[in-house]
Amino acid sequence: MAGRRGALIVLEGVDRAGKTTQCCKLVEALCDAGQRAQMLRFPERSTEIGKLLSSYLEKKSEIEAHANFSLDWCKQPDVGLPKPDLVLFLQLQLADAAKREGFGCELYENQAFQKQVLQRFYQLMEDPTLNWKIVDASKSFEEVHEEIRTVSEATICTAAQRPLEELWK
Ligand code: ADP
Ligand code: MG
Repeated sequence: MAGRRGALIVLEGVDRAGKTTQCCKLVEALCDAGQRAQMLRFPERSTEIGKLLSSYLEKKSEIEAHANFSLDWCKQPDVGLPKPDLVLFLQLQLADAAKREGFGCELYENQAFQKQVLQRFYQLMEDPTLNWKIVDASKSFEEVHEEIRTVSEATICTAAQRPLEELWK
């Protein structure tokens, strides 16, 4: 008999929306509750390709960057990957993100670029095949955490009964 499967929960949002902070808190809370939760970063900056991306984003190396491809073109490398059971969008006004510690340190952390990123997120959210949930990321650390934990626990229960699907297929 096949075992119960876990859930794939993705945290999204503009730079400094709180993704890393909330993902760590969620994994910790789930592990404390006896779940085998693990955080995966995308990109994972410790791999060979990740190191290259990281140094580029930290403005330490120059790589020719193409930025004019269509959204559909950009989605292609992810087609067929495990489909997330839940995509939490940490919604934050760009003016508020810009006030957070570290904003501006990396290459694309400026309001004009982040505004375009936000527009692309809203375009992606129109896709009804994905389970997006908007979370108000302007609230306190604890309030955001509680909301994310509650919806994640419910998702873990329902995912166990459902087959794993493929993204954008
Ligand atoms: P991301 O991974 O989305 O870029 P981080 O989790 O690294 O964002 O958070 C960016 C900064 O904002 C950090 O200094 C973090 O402490 C702060 N921060 C995160 N969540 C909140 C919050 N709810 N309220 C205030 N500051 C926050
Ligand atoms: Mg982060």
